[in-house]
Amino acid sequence: MAEAVTVDAFVRWLKHFAETVHDSAGHLTQLDSAIGDADHGTNMDRGLKAVVGVLDTNGFDSPDALFKKVGMTLVSTVGGASGPLYGTFFLRFGSALQGVESIGSKELGKAFRAGVDGIVARGKAELEDKTMYDAWAPALEAFDQAAADGLAAALSAAASAAAEGRDATTDLLARKGRASYLGERSVGHQDPGATSTTMLLESAAATLV
Ligand code: ADP
Ligand code: MG
Repeated sequence: MAEAVTVDAFVRWLKHFAETVHDSAGHLTQLDSAIGDADHGTNMDRGLKAVVGVLDTNGFDSPDALFKKVGMTLVSTVGGASGPLYGTFFLRFGSALQGVESIGSKELGKAFRAGVDGIVARGKAELEDKTMYDAWAPALEAFDQAAADGLAAALSAAASAAAEGRDATTDLLARKGRASYLGERSVGHQDPGATSTTMLLESAAATLV
């Protein structure tokens, strides 16, 4: 199939995400300084640098082998709440692709959903708790709705929906994670994790097709 996603494309995705987070580390940390402990940018940048190191020194013959290594690297290097959450996302994402012959929009949609199920299983976030899930949930829905139009359409719809979800976190009161300690004072600030998640999806739209 013309639009099957390859291991090389996944590697390009991860490197693009790492570069974006590196360039935006100051912004992510600034967002986290308003409602957290000012480390989201540095946490993610550190973890993704380690991922790029792994990608540059290893070859991977399947997506599940690739994402297992990526997930484990993130769990052990990012720290904070987001390390285990991003790590779990990639571990489950990769497991869902195990043995899949040709990865098109349907298969990718299933893998995204499996990854996000992992985030929810770990973090117990619900919609409008002001977390990364507020970017993920609309993204999954938009992806599935556009999946029949092909991978490019699905990824672009998912990235746009994530950005809307990210923007909508500003007005929410945090009910999970460090920001929840602030109560009402968390209102009026964009969630850092929803911001990095949107970058992940924008990178996917830029590299996977
Ligand atoms: P920490 O809060 O431990 O310092 P980070 O600053 O790296 O970790 O990440 C903060 C982000 O993690 C938040 O902006 C939010 O999106 C996400 N987050 C925190 N707790 C949860 C949770 N229970 N479920 C989903 N996402 C969460
Ligand atoms: Mg933090």
